[in-house]
Amino acid sequence: MSSFSIDLSGGLVIVTGGNRGIGLAMTRAVATAGADVAVLYRSHPKAQESADAVAKEFGVKVKAFQCDVGDLPSVEKAVQDVAAWGGKITGLMANAGVSVVKPAFDLTPEDFHKVYDTNVLGVFNIAKTVAKYWVDSGFKGGAIVVTSSMSSGLYNQKGLSDPLTQAFYNSSKGAVTSLSKALAAEWAPYGIRLNILEPGYCNTEQTSKMASEIRDFQAHSVPLQRFSEPHEQAFPAVMLLSSHASYLTGSVLRPDGGFTIW
Ligand code: NDP
Repeated sequence: MSSFSIDLSGGLVIVTGGNRGIGLAMTRAVATAGADVAVLYRSHPKAQESADAVAKEFGVKVKAFQCDVGDLPSVEKAVQDVAAWGGKITGLMANAGVSVVKPAFDLTPEDFHKVYDTNVLGVFNIAKTVAKYWVDSGFKGGAIVVTSSMSSGLYNQKGLSDPLTQAFYNSSKGAVTSLSKALAAEWAPYGIRLNILEPGYCNTEQTSKMASEIRDFQAHSVPLQRFSEPHEQAFPAVMLLSSHASYLTGSVLRPDGGFTIW
């Protein structure tokens, strides 16, 4: 039996949204485990800079590829470009996600498309393209981790005076978890594992937009009494990607500091 350190050396992992926030921590965690990383980002002007910094720190190859995960031709091109650059793709972190925070009465069809095109269709586009690439090339052993959210099953964020202000986001994450379980079941016979990360509150740009009194209140309603840091999401995700999780597929891992215990 191998030792318990996580070893992804020789691998090439795609991380969508891997240029900042939880995704950047995933990029760093994958690089720590020895794999090369292809970062897919939407528009951030410094995406390649953050990729270069990770490459320099961990001594692996890291390159940023512009891609809108909600647009299938853009995803197919990015996956082709990644394979041409780095060789065989061995893993995928489907992590990119966006939120619209508004009372439900103010939500519009445009808001729906903004959230669902990235969160739900985006996960499907990238997961299908990579899974098809594995099946077509006869590669068995590919692993996917999809970032959903603890909010996938939350209809009311406890304690907030204005609780239902992310109806499209929360419901999109319910769809992400449900879709991911369906894909895990369908692709298991091809030797593909797909697991789901449902982060709790995490200190990233997404949560920095919260009003400070809501932030403090929410932090205190987490049993561990604080928001997580991005690496506290990334390391459980890398464990799911690794061979230590070889008998896990369709499972949900929820690093939420205990928020959903009750
Ligand atoms: P950030 O807002 O910090 O970063 C979002 C990332 O996704 C960016 O890299 C962005 O690229 C990328 N992205 C957004 N839309 C697209 C798109 N259409 N195509 C390609 N890339 C895209 O997010 P977080 O790090 O906070 O969140 C990461 C994931 O974790 C998301 O799925 C989020 O829903 C989930 N999550 C976060 C929680 C939190 O508390 N932060 C809690 C629970 C879940 P660019 O920089 O180019 O815009």
